Amino acid sequence: MIIVMREGASRREIDEVQEEIKRMGYTPHPIIGVERTVIGAIGDERDKARLQELETAPGVERVIPILKPYKLAGLELKKEKSLVAVGRDAVFGGKRIPVIAGPCSVESHEQICRTAEAVKAAGATLLRGGAYKPRTSPYAFQGLEEEGLKMLAAARDCTGLPVVTEVMKESVLDLVARYADVLQIGARNMQNFDLLKAVGQLRKPILLKRGLANTVREWLMSAEYIMAQGNMQVILCERGIRTFETATRNTLDLSAISVLRRETHLPVVVDPSHATGVAAYVESMTLAAVAAGADGIMIEVHPNPHEAWSDGAQSLTPAAFAGVMGKAKAVAAAVGREI
Ligand code: PEP
Ligand code: MN
Repeated sequence: MIIVMREGASRREIDEVQEEIKRMGYTPHPIIGVERTVIGAIGDERDKARLQELETAPGVERVIPILKPYKLAGLELKKEKSLVAVGRDAVFGGKRIPVIAGPCSVESHEQICRTAEAVKAAGATLLRGGAYKPRTSPYAFQGLEEEGLKMLAAARDCTGLPVVTEVMKESVLDLVARYADVLQIGARNMQNFDLLKAVGQLRKPILLKRGLANTVREWLMSAEYIMAQGNMQVILCERGIRTFETATRNTLDLSAISVLRRETHLPVVVDPSHATGVAAYVESMTLAAVAAGADGIMIEVHPNPHEAWSDGAQSLTPAAFAGVMGKAKAVAAAVGREI
């Protein structure tokens, strides 16, 4: 339910309504606007009608139901786009589009530092690299784990770039959170509800990738799991979905950006690397994503893609990445954004 306070409602009235919401067993989520405050009352859907009683409380103008199943992620409670800030320079959801770049996997100190310096020189604002890798084969490289996290932290120290890295399981969540500036929930874990609840307890940005075969609605419900725990810093990441087409690794659903714009205030990043699986297609899909209104881009870059321990076929060389950045800046300018 949304409790709409009157214009000019006092601090005390707002506090009292929040206390009453808690007494009824719901969690209040106040959103303080320029003209008025609205309070989302989130919790058990079954007897939410009781919240209607608040309509007679001092300072309350009306109580209206939230129709969409994603209460906090949707636009009914919060209409303004959410800004998710990372480090000193990157803000997802603003005019400037942050670019996350780096290798699929962290392989060595030298590899991650060299990549970090190269992508920074080309204009990237965040560094990516996996230390825990969800691999199709149990015999494939699984990641350097804590050693990899330390290498990422070293690369951050020498470049100043904040770090995005994946957490696959709750047992290492505290460890990953100690090193990461943004925690990535990978496509395969998009509906790992216990993991979503656990990252919801953090107060750090979460990059929530779309599941391989999940609808936009399911994706937003996963965002809702994180937000319901109080962590509002959710960034969505479209990374392609499974279709009948096999010419590309996945099918990039660019229209998801437009759909999400009408459904959520959360920022949307596009990952053309995992979406296409082919380095040669990354540039065009990056430009298309920027033109379509993406709030961020994530690109895999490796100093020597042929020798990459994972996802070499879709990784760009630093030189190719610099070329993409040059063109992406021009497209961003054409649509009123900046890179
Ligand atoms: C990744 O970003 O390295 C990754 C494994 O992506 P996804 O979960 O989208 O497959
Ligand atoms: Mn990868």
